[in-house]
Amino acid sequence: MQKNPRILQFFKSLKFRLILLAAVLVIVPGVILSVGILNSYHKRTISIRESEVLSQAKILANQISTSSYMDGSGQGTATIQAQMDMLTTIYNGRIMIVDSTFRIIYDTYNIGMHKTIISEEVIKSFSGQEIVSYDAENNYIEMSIPVSNPEDASGMIRGVLLVSVSTDNVELALSHLRQVAVIICMTVMALLIFGSVLFILYLMRPLRRISDEIAAIETGYGDYSLQVNDYTETIRICEKFNTMLAHMKVMDDSRQEFVSNVSHELKTPLTSIKVLADSINSMPDAPKELYQEFMGDITNEIERETKIVNDLLSLVKMDKSAADLNIAAVNINELLEQILKRLQPIADKQKVELVLETFRPITAEVDEVKLTLAITNLIENGIKYNKTDGEGWVHVTLNADHQYFYLKVEDSGIGIPEEDLEHIYERFYRVDKSHSREIGGTGLGLAIARSSILMHRGAIKVYSVPEEGTTFDVRIPLLYHVGGAK
Ligand code: ADP
Repeated sequence: MQKNPRILQFFKSLKFRLILLAAVLVIVPGVILSVGILNSYHKRTISIRESEVLSQAKILANQISTSSYMDGSGQGTATIQAQMDMLTTIYNGRIMIVDSTFRIIYDTYNIGMHKTIISEEVIKSFSGQEIVSYDAENNYIEMSIPVSNPEDASGMIRGVLLVSVSTDNVELALSHLRQVAVIICMTVMALLIFGSVLFILYLMRPLRRISDEIAAIETGYGDYSLQVNDYTETIRICEKFNTMLAHMKVMDDSRQEFVSNVSHELKTPLTSIKVLADSINSMPDAPKELYQEFMGDITNEIERETKIVNDLLSLVKMDKSAADLNIAAVNINELLEQILKRLQPIADKQKVELVLETFRPITAEVDEVKLTLAITNLIENGIKYNKTDGEGWVHVTLNADHQYFYLKVEDSGIGIPEEDLEHIYERFYRVDKSHSREIGGTGLGLAIARSSILMHRGAIKVYSVPEEGTTFDVRIPLLYHVGGAK
């Protein structure tokens, strides 16, 4: 049960595939090479044997034709026959002489004498052709050679010399050679495959080191970094891994910082409440008015605590994936009017003029609740961080092209110093902590606004001049595309 996955893992491994590749690269050419060499050696040996026998047979045919052998006169017959016997012994073969009446007049095997032989080869040779053929199945070479007298001007063919030679000894030598070749080939292949396996295992070592080092880092990535510099590829993997590790560390640090900030922010109102309550307790004879004042302060602190908790909950919602967006077609003009109506009392209280300017009716695919939160935070900031002498204003402008709608929130407020601009979206970041606290800020509003806008695949930019005012530019796609892009 347990072994199966391990075997499967081995078959799926790069190691196994490389070993398989090496084996194929060694075995296939090895087999092709040895079979090819043996075959060509076989052909060559047979063709040498053929030409050897052919030249001997031609000499013999020549001798026969120049002698009076065919006439049966007996002159030189014994010599020629002795020569034929010798040739058949050397080459392990048989020689027959056929005369013009297709009768066998000599057979070194002595069994065919005086018989008639009318074969295709014999007939062809009587018309002057030399025929050589190799019978691979029965291992012999056969040839039929015309016997004619070159001095005879008519060129008449007087007989045919039939020679057959066994190639058994060639095959024997070849089969021995084949055995030797197989042994040598197998040994060389085994050595090559063994060598390749060792080399592959050596090549794979850096990969193993990478996984070992990652396992070591897993136990506490504090001060570790991955360093396997053997190949360009491993260097690249290590670089990417270390970048990811650094990123994770930053995220971990920021999470820890966030938790500590949250604890601190939640503790502040509680500490105030405790101080206020202790003070009242230590003054049993305090007048009713003092009690009421202290209770009012306690209520304010409780309200503040509630606001922080609510903002934190909103932020957590924004941190979820884009899949949690509740997208619907929303009339943005109406949405802005509602938001401004809701904020009007705060603006009135601060003596800040609130102006909305829209250039066209706009409908966009957005999450109404989340977008409302973002826009409310931006406009509320414009009101909160503004002049209170009745000169202050906040201008909200809405426009669109065929792809995006653009929202501009411009105020005549206190502005943001340049060095703070890059931090204002951080959670709990406040330019002037005590001022922000005084006016009920939690430092989470812009973080919530930015998250919401990014979830809509939009963008937010800020421009500010201290003492003059601040402008937030927001751009959001009219159509929401699932899975990214515009
Ligand atoms: P807060 O709840 O404190 O307003 P935000 O995240 O909304 O927190 O804003 C972060 C800080 O950025 C604020 O404390 C304030 O100092 C500064 N800020 C934001 N908006 C404006 C603005 N319109 N004008 C001036 N300062 C601003």
